[in-house]
Amino acid sequence: MTLRERAAPPAAVDPKRAALAIWQPAYIGLGSNLDDPRTQVLAAVEKLRALPNTRVVAVSKLYGSKPFGPVKQGDFVNAVVGLLTQLDAPALLNEAKAIERALGRPEKYERWGPRVIDLDILVYGCEKRADPALTIPHPGIVERNWVLYPLADIAPSLDIPGVGRVADLKGSIAPEGLWTL
Ligand code: ADP
Ligand code: MG
Repeated sequence: MTLRERAAPPAAVDPKRAALAIWQPAYIGLGSNLDDPRTQVLAAVEKLRALPNTRVVAVSKLYGSKPFGPVKQGDFVNAVVGLLTQLDAPALLNEAKAIERALGRPEKYERWGPRVIDLDILVYGCEKRADPALTIPHPGIVERNWVLYPLADIAPSLDIPGVGRVADLKGSIAPEGLWTL
């Protein structure tokens, strides 16, 4: 019998939950402006804590923010979570979308409109990808104070791949329409 024949067969891996043999740091932006937004954001944090192969290691302060864009709607609650995960980036996106659905976000919704919960993968390790289904780093980070301020609470020295250092980016954007809760 050869060594190869004696080796255990590889464990079946659900591709939606592909687990890597290393832990990657990732940052998730959360936002809600429907159905008691603070409760929704805190519920999403708890669901992130329950993800397989994942540990939440930091949670920012909660922020209130004025809605952006043409649609008249309520104020948002925002936060950023830092985690370590063995899920690869697409698997983490699948889990984020499952959390959005579990909290009642419909499949179809108005662009720029109100949402019960939004989970965006802001940064995933050193990854850079430009796929419209998963763009990393998230393209909105630089101009969104409701992302940069909470991200700076938990990772001011983070160097966002191809974008810059969080504290520097925060320093170049005013906290207009943003407040801590
Ligand atoms: P936004 O968060 O900019 O308001 P949406 O949440 O409405 O936009 O966008 C949803 C789509 O964006 C998802 O179907 C998802 O595939 C895609 N997407 C691309 N990059 C990312 C990312 N980094 N994090 C989350 N969703 C992303
Ligand atoms: Mg989103």
